[in-house]
Amino acid sequence: MEYKSQNVVCQNCKEQFTIEPDDFSFYEKMKVPAPKICPDCRFKMRAVFRNERTLYNQMCRLCGRSIITMYHPDSPYVVYCNDCFLSDKWDPYFFALDFDFSRPFFDQLKELTEKVPKSATYSSVQMGPNINSEYANFAGGNKDGYLIFNSGPGNENCAYSRGIIKARDVFDFYYGDSIENIYEGINVHKSNGIIWGQNVTDSIDSQFVLNCSNCQNCFGCVNLRHKSYHFFNEPLSREEWLARVGEISGSYLKIEEMKKKFSEFSLKFPHRSNNNLKTTNCTGDYLFESKNCHNCFEVSFCEDMHNVFSVKLAKDCADMIGHCRNSELLYNGVGVGAGSTRVISYWWVESSQDIEYSFAIRQSANCFGCDGIKNGNFVILNKRYEKDEYYKIKNKIVEELREKGVYGDFFPTDLAFFSYNETIGQDNMPMTKEQALLEGFRWEDKIQKTEGKETLSLDKIPDNIKDVEESILNEVLTCKMCSRNYRLIKREFEFYKKMLIPIPRECWNCRFVNRIIRRGPYKFWNRNCVKCQADITTSYAPDRPEIVYCEKCYQQEVY
Ligand SMILES: [Zn+2]
Ligand SMILES: [Zn+2]
Ligand SMILES: [Zn+2]
Ligand SMILES: [Zn+2]
Repeated sequence: MEYKSQNVVCQNCKEQFTIEPDDFSFYEKMKVPAPKICPDCRFKMRAVFRNERTLYNQMCRLCGRSIITMYHPDSPYVVYCNDCFLSDKWDPYFFALDFDFSRPFFDQLKELTEKVPKSATYSSVQMGPNINSEYANFAGGNKDGYLIFNSGPGNENCAYSRGIIKARDVFDFYYGDSIENIYEGINVHKSNGIIWGQNVTDSIDSQFVLNCSNCQNCFGCVNLRHKSYHFFNEPLSREEWLARVGEISGSYLKIEEMKKKFSEFSLKFPHRSNNNLKTTNCTGDYLFESKNCHNCFEVSFCEDMHNVFSVKLAKDCADMIGHCRNSELLYNGVGVGAGSTRVISYWWVESSQDIEYSFAIRQSANCFGCDGIKNGNFVILNKRYEKDEYYKIKNKIVEELREKGVYGDFFPTDLAFFSYNETIGQDNMPMTKEQALLEGFRWEDKIQKTEGKETLSLDKIPDNIKDVEESILNEVLTCKMCSRNYRLIKREFEFYKKMLIPIPRECWNCRFVNRIIRRGPYKFWNRNCVKCQADITTSYAPDRPEIVYCEKCYQQEVY
């Protein structure tokens, strides 16, 4: 059937949005009606099911050991450690409910999901185990990781980072692969020894670099290609370069000064309208080797995707957050992948087919409204049926949801496991408490953190890392931004010593949030190239100070 693009007013926020012909073909394939809610509101509804880094201490309710979990101690859920959750020590069918035709489906699903135990953190079994990495969430295949999110496989000795693959000795980093010895970077690929880098590829031993590739020994440089021994875009002799950089490295005060100087310096140069690489017919940002992807963010090796965030190796999916590896025909979900197909509205599904409105499903098929099922087939509300009976009940539920105009939509927000400010919603579409409550989300006032326990004030830390002794590992510090207490871990301290990086004076969470701000928002504006006036779509808001060029003008500038 031929479709025309259609403008629709969002039933939540009343903003107008457009449904494109491609979207309609996808909805037809998935046998769902077109959504009445705009992509941003849909993102928030999903994001509130994805708490990556607000972690709490609890006890495993099965084996009693103390655990790190994404569930708030006051939440109604029974939380198991990941080992107990994956074991056969409990039976998800024990919680089965008979579908009651006289009650709304979502009420019954909520009742079920408040009974079925939850895994302390989300770990993808298919991506490999997390070894010695208890503080990892939405991650798999990490060794010696600490506070690692949405990452793996193939990482070793990394901390305080999100979105990394094949990374080794990487600290305070956001989004990259095949990297080693990286500190405070965003969007760095195939590089080694990059400190304070953003949008960098194939580079070595450089600091304060922005939009650079194939560079080596560059400091304070923007838009360079195939350069070495440059200092604020000027060539220097090797000796001169080493002397200047040597004076700065390791000193907290000098690095702070450089941060300021470099951010002013980089505003003089044109910026690309987006950070996409090797893409065809795509709109969005941080897209890599992808085709026909629209309104997407942090997406690699994908084809025919719409409104997806932090996704890799998938095709023909829409409205997804995370994972998706080797999967297709997924709609409205969080953390599904590992060879899954035809899945509608779900949370954490791996290696499964024909799943709808379900949570934590592995190696299963034909599940509707289930939680915690593995190796299941023809299951509704965790109760097994014969095939004919399954379809009879499922069709009834679909009919109910269609009549209410919500079939295909994500779970209603009152089923959300988390409060808005615990989730990646707050990172990517931040709201005040009042706004969030108004939009029907919960808000958590008691986020776990320690305050007032400091043993060493920041001004007592020596300026240069060379003068800091290992005894700092016994000290409790206080973040200069939020006054939260934080400590250093040994591997982190060794990394700072090796790389000549001063001790950070902010807690890891403030550093993380600051990195998201530098990354830019998951939001796009239509603007004009400052040079040729061509139409561009960019995540630089119109009031940003950066000079933004279209791709053609930018390439003319840098090559
Ligand atoms: Zn909306
Ligand atoms: Zn346990
Ligand atoms: Zn802080
Ligand atoms: Zn232009």
